[in-house]
Amino acid sequence: MRVNITLECTDCKQRNYNMTKDKKNHPDRMETKKYCKFCKSHTLHKETK
Ligand SMILES: [Zn+2]
Repeated sequence: MRVNITLECTDCKQRNYNMTKDKKNHPDRMETKKYCKFCKSHTLHKETK
């Protein structure tokens, strides 16, 4: 049940990460704190659709 997702920085809207998630564990849109090289800090990243 793994699907490919893209994580987007909520500050600068850059798409920084591609990853897979388990739909069983994360049925909704994922949000996670990740390093953004454009913001040069850890920001909230959201799954895009
Ligand atoms: Zn950013």
